[in-house]
Amino acid sequence: MYNVSSLKAEEFISDEEIRETLAYADANKENLEVIDQILHKAKERKGLTHREASVLLACELPEKVNEIFALAEQLKKDYYGNRIVLFAPLYLSNYCVNGCVYCPYHAKNKHIARKKLTQEEIIKEVTALQDMGHKRLAIEAGEDPVNNPIDYILECIHTIYSIKHKNGAIRRVNVNIAATTVENYRKLKEAEIGTYILFQETYHRESYEKLHPTGPKHDYAYHTEAMDRAMEGGIDDVGLGVLFGLELYRYEFAGLLMHAEHLEAVHGVGPHTISVPRIKHADDIDPSAFDNSISDDIFAKICALIRIAVPYTGMIISTRESQEVRERVLPLGVSQISGASKTSVGGYAEPETPEEVTSAQFDVSDQRTLDEVVNWLIKLGYIPSFCTACYREGRTGDRFMALCKNMQILNCCHPNALMTLKEYLEDYAGDETRKIGMELIEQELKKIPNPKVKRIAAEHIHDIAEGKRDFRF
Ligand code: SF4
Ligand code: SF4
Repeated sequence: MYNVSSLKAEEFISDEEIRETLAYADANKENLEVIDQILHKAKERKGLTHREASVLLACELPEKVNEIFALAEQLKKDYYGNRIVLFAPLYLSNYCVNGCVYCPYHAKNKHIARKKLTQEEIIKEVTALQDMGHKRLAIEAGEDPVNNPIDYILECIHTIYSIKHKNGAIRRVNVNIAATTVENYRKLKEAEIGTYILFQETYHRESYEKLHPTGPKHDYAYHTEAMDRAMEGGIDDVGLGVLFGLELYRYEFAGLLMHAEHLEAVHGVGPHTISVPRIKHADDIDPSAFDNSISDDIFAKICALIRIAVPYTGMIISTRESQEVRERVLPLGVSQISGASKTSVGGYAEPETPEEVTSAQFDVSDQRTLDEVVNWLIKLGYIPSFCTACYREGRTGDRFMALCKNMQILNCCHPNALMTLKEYLEDYAGDETRKIGMELIEQELKKIPNPKVKRIAAEHIHDIAEGKRDFRF
């Protein structure tokens, strides 16, 4: 039944294959010969199959677990350097016809405030986001053909790109909307979106159907095959994710990697990003009602193993996670984080008061301002980056992967990170952040290996101080 190249969900995410994988992992979780072979392959930067990675996830031998963490840190440094790309979610509408039992936007929730942004309200939201310093957004909307049809989403994207406030600009709009048709994906591509993100929620078909009892999202196959339709529609950067806590994490982990292998086998390019959200408290949602929640230790191990298994895939952590947890997983392979997020509709221009009926999708754990997040990253030794260069230079899909595989991070992502950080420091940073940020840029410029790139980056950074903007490699 299992066929990585099949276009049928039940064949590329075969339940039987996952069960056999978990049995194999259990049988070998203390088999040092097998574990060492897998680690050896990972050290050669060849990535891992879902089966190999599942063995490491099952392994609890302390020495080997330490090796896994050390290797993840090494790969993170080699492929991503010390940059962390920043973005913010923008909730357009929380009208939704689906019945997802873990999400407060589900259609039967009558006490959440339903909102849908008008184009004027989007201008206000985006202006507020630009005034913080954001350049990269992920737009979110519930599924509702009447309230949020594709034309509404396209109009919103157009509005977002058109707003130029002071030196602000949103240069990349990633899109997180429900599974749709090839035709609609083509329209999103034409609207110049960055990554199309769709969380699978759970790969376990039976659980999936129970967790999505009503609405179009109930259709497991249509949802699971969405990325193939997106790629057929011309979108070559897609973002996967599962909602940890819904099902057994080992099952989800194997399914997630099988999905990545499937995209690589069929389309020649794996997922651009993987997100690792955990279920959170929200209006109408009690996370303790889901008994598969995972500890911080397991969460960190999953992050490390994703980094090892798919070294070229970016990893995203949102403000669902606390500062403490984010700090723990940053060195293990996370490449993008959200900052200063509001998960309510219209929450940037007009934050909700505690007395108000909320429109939020989940409670934010990390509530710091963007300046505090930037300051924190710098003090931890990271370069906060607002880079959007690849997508604007047409380096998507396999062209982006080539950049990553050839380890051109230090000659490309690194100077782009420094230049976009410089823009942030000039236009939005508080005094202390500006001071430590400028020092960081001075030190980090020296690390660019190619002398020509180093010279041009230094010139551009000087020009940014003079008021010029938007340089990129
Ligand atoms: S998870 Fe998405 S589709 Fe499901 S209820 Fe929430 S907004 Fe709607
Ligand atoms: S240069 Fe490309 S890969 Fe590197 S940070 Fe910028 S957008 Fe990402």
